Amino acid sequence: NPFTALGLDAALVRAVTDLGYTQPTEVQAKAIPLAMGTGNADEASIDLMVSSQTGSGKTAAFLLPVLNTLIAQKAIEAAAEQAEFERQRAEAAASGEPAPKRAKRKNPMQTRNFKAAVPGALVLCPTRELAQQVAHDAIELVKHCKGLRIANVVGGMPYQMQIAKLQNADLVVATPGRLLDLQRSMQIKLDKVQFLVVDEADRMLDLGFADDLEEIHQMTAQRKQTMMFSATFAARIQQLALRVMHEGGANVQ
Ligand code: AMP
Repeated sequence: NPFTALGLDAALVRAVTDLGYTQPTEVQAKAIPLAMGTGNADEASIDLMVSSQTGSGKTAAFLLPVLNTLIAQKAIEAAAEQAEFERQRAEAAASGEPAPKRAKRKNPMQTRNFKAAVPGALVLCPTRELAQQVAHDAIELVKHCKGLRIANVVGGMPYQMQIAKLQNADLVVATPGRLLDLQRSMQIKLDKVQFLVVDEADRMLDLGFADDLEEIHQMTAQRKQTMMFSATFAARIQQLALRVMHEGGANVQ
């Protein structure tokens, strides 16, 4: 499978196969290997400035490499949790105590005291419709991945419901305004964001989000990788790229 050859996890390859994708599109074939670097979860990755039109398959071009790393990290975490559980069980058995039980996961929708979401990846979109589409695509792509959560943060949605859905989110797809609202009210913390994607950067500037982008850029200063997607490489996009990415990011056309 050509998606396996790109280094993607089997669960993601199954999802793209379910969606009927047989070959990566041009932008996917170019951007995915660059975005994944060596494919090692701990490896520093490079920033990308990608020229892409709607319909080119750009959404999967940024979602697949980001999700691939999140899956690898989850697997490492799950293995560590399992090892710890087994260690406690062995300890209990040796001392004749009852075996420890696994911690139950609470249904986040039933929790009254919400904890702030601490996502590992953030995708910014200029409009609510685009953010919903991207979140929808992400949910399709993770359908065979256990425990990876996607949340959508857009204006005009009931606040409480959005906060509930944010709980334990690994990847957040957001419009900048509502994201900053939730950040200011401490419903979301951005200091664990490793991957930042700016989708349709040209429209983002057209719609007046430059200051919001700057703020989010500074709040996620610890991130490992930034990807910007834009229909054009106009001078103002190049300037933004230089501002938020190492050396303006590697150009992918
Ligand atoms: P986008 O440019 O991300 O808006 O994607 C445009 C459309 O192409 C969407 O409906 C995707 O589901 C579809 N698509 C994305 N990647 C592929 C692929 N590799 N093969 C076939 N269709 C794809």
